[in-house]
Amino acid sequence: MFGLAIHGGAGTMPRTEMSAERELEYRAALAAALDAGYAVLQGGGTSLEAVTRAVVNLEDNPLFNAGRGSVFTHDGGNELDAAIMDGSSLRAGAVCGVTHIRNPIELARTVMEHSDYVMLSGTGAEEFALSRGFALVPRSYFYTPERWRQLERIRAGDTGLSALTISHIGTVGAVALDEAGHLAAATSTGGMTGKRYNRIGDSPIIGAGTYADDRSCAVSATGHGEIFIRAAVAHDICARMRFGGRPLREAVREVVFEELPALNGEGGVIAIDRQGEIAMEFNSEGMFRAARSAGQAAQISIYRT
Ligand code: ASP
Repeated sequence: MFGLAIHGGAGTMPRTEMSAERELEYRAALAAALDAGYAVLQGGGTSLEAVTRAVVNLEDNPLFNAGRGSVFTHDGGNELDAAIMDGSSLRAGAVCGVTHIRNPIELARTVMEHSDYVMLSGTGAEEFALSRGFALVPRSYFYTPERWRQLERIRAGDTGLSALTISHIGTVGAVALDEAGHLAAATSTGGMTGKRYNRIGDSPIIGAGTYADDRSCAVSATGHGEIFIRAAVAHDICARMRFGGRPLREAVREVVFEELPALNGEGGVIAIDRQGEIAMEFNSEGMFRAARSAGQAAQISIYRT
């Protein structure tokens, strides 16, 4: 048994703003990333490699708020965060506030595999990247006109649709179970549009936006990061399974529909357990998501089905 689930962000995304053409673009992008991860698992590869390949694919696609399509900070820059975790060893790696790394998830994995640390930030993370042979990309690599327009709307004080709704949508993540029975999770994001003061969200925080433990499940979250940190979302879901004996779906639903709303936290999570059970739940209008279990067809959805 093996399986994989991915997300491309959750939030308020009015259907009226989603043209049929745009929806097709998103579906194709999710299908491509799912295929990239699934191919690894089908070839007998590890869950760690599968989540890495799926997330790299999403980071390279300007549709998503991660890697190339990352949102802009208040100062017009891009600060990227990512984390990865190996459920078999509980090893983890994370980077935050990087500005010249094309694929932050690969750097997070390198931190996990080739450093004595779990989390590196900013210029230090990039110095480490250089020491490991990463190429730095110019800041202009992250420029996309649509993200720039979103920043301009927020700077102009448009708090209607934008500020907490469209502004952060597009964080990406993946969770996988491999044939050997091991779990892994990965999450990557540009954070919130217009963020200031080197703000860091939940995505790179182990236990908040990302967690994997073979004794319970692997989780990647997306949503209003400040709340997800306070609710320790990813670890909470794992703990409900491990200590509370909850099945995966119940653990996920309790956190997404009870814990988060109690704090006004909007968003969702994807999760997978050792039986290959997959849960993809969100309390927002939609969540870009896709999943595929061994030998079965891919499922791709955006709104509630
Ligand atoms: N959780 C991300 C953050 O707060 C944003 C998102 O998932 O939409 O940085």
